[in-house]
Amino acid sequence: MTVYLVGAGPGDPSLLTLRGAEVLASADVVVYDRLSVASLLDLAPPNAERISVGKQPGGPRTSQEDINALLVARGQAGQQVVRLKGGDPFVFARGGEEAAALAAAGVAFEVVPGITSAVAVPAYAGIPVTMRYSSTSFTVVTGHEDPAKGEGSVNWEAVAALGGTVVVLMGAVRCRAICDRIIAGGMAPETPAAAVQWGTRPNQRTLRATLATLADFDPQPPATIVIGEVAAADLAWFENRPLFGRRIVVTRAQPQAAAMAAELRRRGAEAIELPAIAFEPPEDHDRLARAAAEAGSYDWVVFTSPTGVARFFEHLRDARSLGGVRVAAIGPGTAAALADRNVVADLIPEKYVAESLLEALSNEVGPERPGRVLIPRAETARDVLPDGLAAAGWDVDVVPAYRTVAPAPDPDAAALLADAEVITFTSSSTVTNFTDTYGTTAVPEVVATIGPVTSATTRSRGLEVGIEATDHTVDGLIAALEDYFTR
Ligand code: SAH
Repeated sequence: MTVYLVGAGPGDPSLLTLRGAEVLASADVVVYDRLSVASLLDLAPPNAERISVGKQPGGPRTSQEDINALLVARGQAGQQVVRLKGGDPFVFARGGEEAAALAAAGVAFEVVPGITSAVAVPAYAGIPVTMRYSSTSFTVVTGHEDPAKGEGSVNWEAVAALGGTVVVLMGAVRCRAICDRIIAGGMAPETPAAAVQWGTRPNQRTLRATLATLADFDPQPPATIVIGEVAAADLAWFENRPLFGRRIVVTRAQPQAAAMAAELRRRGAEAIELPAIAFEPPEDHDRLARAAAEAGSYDWVVFTSPTGVARFFEHLRDARSLGGVRVAAIGPGTAAALADRNVVADLIPEKYVAESLLEALSNEVGPERPGRVLIPRAETARDVLPDGLAAAGWDVDVVPAYRTVAPAPDPDAAALLADAEVITFTSSSTVTNFTDTYGTTAVPEVVATIGPVTSATTRSRGLEVGIEATDHTVDGLIAALEDYFTR
């Protein structure tokens, strides 16, 4: 079998190559470093072995010889091994030594190049490493050797003399000595210089200075240092996204939490998925099956959540039985779930709450007699809609389609919630479950809700509501967050 030396890119998990994702997906073993992003490790099969060889806080670092031996042994054992390394495996990453050890042992290996931080981190800070005419070369140098001792093999004078862009990796700690040596080598002290910390990650921070002053800003690792005219370029885009760097907790059920988190990340947020709700089959699941079998006997089927749609359609054997039935959705999310199943909602109320749905349905019926209505929904829910319809003379069938439960507390919750700025609540049950599970003191400073009902529940727990969506959808909530942070 083969050992793959895979470049993981500088941090943003979406900068992994397609080939990298492909070999990870069929790995038996993943050997990774401490800074590896968890979501990349998730690309390996669940039962793949994951071995950390990075220095753990307080623990020992696995020596390079031991890593080489481990790769050789696993390769010889016939396993598909992925050695995941930050950036590119052959740029200051000792991938060359690992490949040499594998070659010497006769173990087949492949190299999957990665996007190196030397180029990608400046790019995420809005700094192009070359510019036509002004910066015609870029030199990537290790800052690992102590330039003050003069014992290293980096020829800093030559680096300075070359004149193009200088990119220093592993140089944060020795920043002052490095800049001093480059100045001594003849580069002007006022040459623009930048240090990009935690590049491509939600906590990216760019320090902008000159060669003479950069060290005063005390850059912290991991940082990529860029020296040269280009370092004055401020084509910032990554750090300018509306929710950049905001730690926002998502409490929706999975898989909706992942979808919402992805939308938040697209806007630059550091989204934390901590579902406060999960869906299970209802206690009496035969009722839904029976109602679905008789779907054609109703005048209306009214859906109040995407989950209700999903469960109902699991039981609907023949789509044609909905042929003569009119269908209502409480809002666009529910309507989208219907559209996914090729059903176009006949009615979506103006406001996406039960009161509005009740009003819209009452207006629909006109002078003829109110009909039979099926409402497949959560086992426990507000009775505004069924009670209102019944009072208006409708024949109402409320059928439990699912049960919302509080998931087991996440053991990492305290760490995930630390420094979180905002928590989003998309329903009353996310509020009650979250506060029951973690307590109100665990709630981050700003609470953002999807609408007035969820806000009322939030306040009933003694919490303030900082942001309330005007459009009561997840998109509306995200828009409200953007509005709040760009104002
Ligand atoms: N093989 C890697 C480099 C490994 S050396 C690559 O090709 O990118 C480790 C150094 O890379 C760090 O000290 C830092 O200078 C740089 N680096 C790695 N990740 C970084 C990040 N997210 N932001 C800034 N610099 C980073």
